[in-house]
Amino acid sequence: MLGGARHVEAKRDGMWNIQPQSSAAAVKAYVCPGCGQEIGERVAHVVTWRADGILGEADDLAARRHWHSACWRIRS
Ligand SMILES: [Zn+2]
Repeated sequence: MLGGARHVEAKRDGMWNIQPQSSAAAVKAYVCPGCGQEIGERVAHVVTWRADGILGEADDLAARRHWHSACWRIRS
């Protein structure tokens, strides 16, 4: 199990897919759009992409973002 099940969350700007990434699955560093700080390697976090299909699933997936779990949680 690599970080749990994908699910959908409602935010103020629409529906979002959330795919949790476990520390074992986090093999690259990313910059979190919430706080602008790096998400280091081996840090569990979430990957998010739109679930309301405006652009289509492939484009939404291509535009996915990596967030600190806490930063995503406090995003409105
Ligand atoms: Zn962050």
